[in-house]
Formats: sequence, C-alpha cells, structure tokens
Amino acid sequence: MCAGAGGDVTAHGVRILEGRWSDAFLGRYPVRPGYAYVIWKGRHVTEPGELDDEETAGFWGEVARVADAVQARYRPTKMNWLHLGNGVPHLHVHLVPRPVDDPRAGGPLEPESFDQAATTPVPEAELEAEATALRAALGPPT
Ligand SMILES: [Zn+2]
Repeated sequence: MCAGAGGDVTAHGVRILEGRWSDAFLGRYPVRPGYAYVIWKGRHVTEPGELDDEETAGFWGEVARVADAVQARYRPTKMNWLHLGNGVPHLHVHLVPRPVDDPRAGGPLEPESFDQAATTPVPEAELEAEATALRAALGPPT
C-alpha cells in the first residue's frame, strides 16, 4: 500500500475521498452495506502511534469525515472503526456500519466477515452509484 492505493477503482473498492492524509474507498466486498476503508498515504506506517501529532490529527480527522458520511447515508445503529492490520501491515481503518437488522447486533463482527471469497461483491453499477453519493456528501478535499 505504500506505493499508492492503485487508482480510483481497484479490485477491493472505489475511491470516495482523495484526502491530504489518506485515501478512502467504498468496499467492493462489503463487511456490511456501506463498508468503507481509509488508507494512510504517507510514508510506511504500521501502527497509528507511529504518526506525529499533525499526522494523527490529519489522519483521524479524515477517518471521521468518511465515517460521518457513511453514517449519514446508511443510518446504522452503530459505527465500528477497526484498526487491525494483521493481514496488511500498512495503516488503514475499516469503517463498518452495523445495520438495524445486523445478524450479530450488540457483538463483534463474525470472524469470516473480511473473507472476500465468502462475500458477495456489490454489483458494479450499485457500487459506482453509492460511491458517487458518498463523494457528494464528503465534498471537495480540504
Ligand atoms: Zn506501507
């Protein structure tokens, strides 16, 4: 991921924000409807604690902007922000809106929730339409 997120449309998602500190994508393989992820785009960093104060404020500020946009559009009962990085050790945050009818409401996500092979991808036209709506909600880069 250090080399860049790979453009506006990748195998994993469609970009919804090209921020100063991060790139955010709507996920092609949704953990839940509206699933998005935000990738730190500076130098190689694994853990949030490696960021300096300015970077910390900038990165988490952009994560919060994206989370707010997802929350406004999908109206979840709860937003989950996950910093994991076990499989891809470059700083990124998963934003998972937990819907009203969440099969595991009140608890953690099921272990297989990030298994793309077990997840039905969002149809391309729907993914693009949702990404367009989220981009509009996010507004221009700040
Ligand atoms: Zn990296």
